[in-house]
Amino acid sequence: MTDRAICWLNGQLLPAERAGIPVNDHGLLYGDGVFEGIRFYKRRAFRLPQHLQRLQLSARAIALQIPLSAAELIAAIEGLIAAFAEDDGYIRLMVTRGAGPLGLNPKSCASPNVIAIADQLTMMDIGQQQAGARLIVSSVRRLPADGLDPRIKSLNYLNHILAKIEANHAGADEALLLNGQGRVAEGSADNVFIVRDGLLLTPPCSEGALEGITRELVLELARANGIEANEQPLGVYDLYAADECFLTGTGAELIPVASIDCRPLPDCPGPTFRRLRQAFVETIAAECRGA
Ligand code: PMP
Repeated sequence: MTDRAICWLNGQLLPAERAGIPVNDHGLLYGDGVFEGIRFYKRRAFRLPQHLQRLQLSARAIALQIPLSAAELIAAIEGLIAAFAEDDGYIRLMVTRGAGPLGLNPKSCASPNVIAIADQLTMMDIGQQQAGARLIVSSVRRLPADGLDPRIKSLNYLNHILAKIEANHAGADEALLLNGQGRVAEGSADNVFIVRDGLLLTPPCSEGALEGITRELVLELARANGIEANEQPLGVYDLYAADECFLTGTGAELIPVASIDCRPLPDCPGPTFRRLRQAFVETIAAECRGA
């Protein structure tokens, strides 16, 4: 975190370095909780209703009752943004199961903790982003939906972290995870798109991807800009044979991909990426006009 990071913790605003939760919070003991990553531009949270909706659905899926109403969460986020030192930034919103006995049973965790941290987040520095990300296809598979549904944005990201470690060891910027069938699911913290012969393709979320809010926006922008787009299962070959590839996410925003498993892509940043990136920037400018 930077020294500007601030935290909203169960109704109290304080410098992030002074915010703390009990060591027996099941969020820490077991990764028992849910979260969202939200960007704000010009002090306006981008696509906040979509993030709060996904948080709510993730919480319902793990039988976690968020102790705040949507209006209270919005007020908390707005208060945090108003108190932050800069106009643009990133918020990590978390709801943990709360403090409880050391055993994993959530039954005796009486009160969930709601935590929101505002800070800066850069997935890759600007130079690297302009040059394009170097990806690997990780040997770590995305968990199957009958283990942990990938639509649940839970505090447990260990298999994504293992994939990221593999990318680090390979000297790459990001790792793609396949599903149990060997088809492409998503990146460690982002969704993936390819372009082939002018057609924009991304795996359906049923292939093991989070229902990314940026992914949904990119599909909307493609439709609005006359770019043909399909959700369809993709294999590793489709990645290697793509004309363009890029990553999307709240943290990542839109990042072009230069190579996958050391196979350079012909177009980085390609023409489809550049159009979508422009439309993305325009959407942010239109929806986040400043306070
Ligand atoms: N997949 C995973 C696993 C993620 O953690 C994220 C980041 N939230 C994404 C995809 C992108 O989702 P979004 O565009 O909603 O940030």
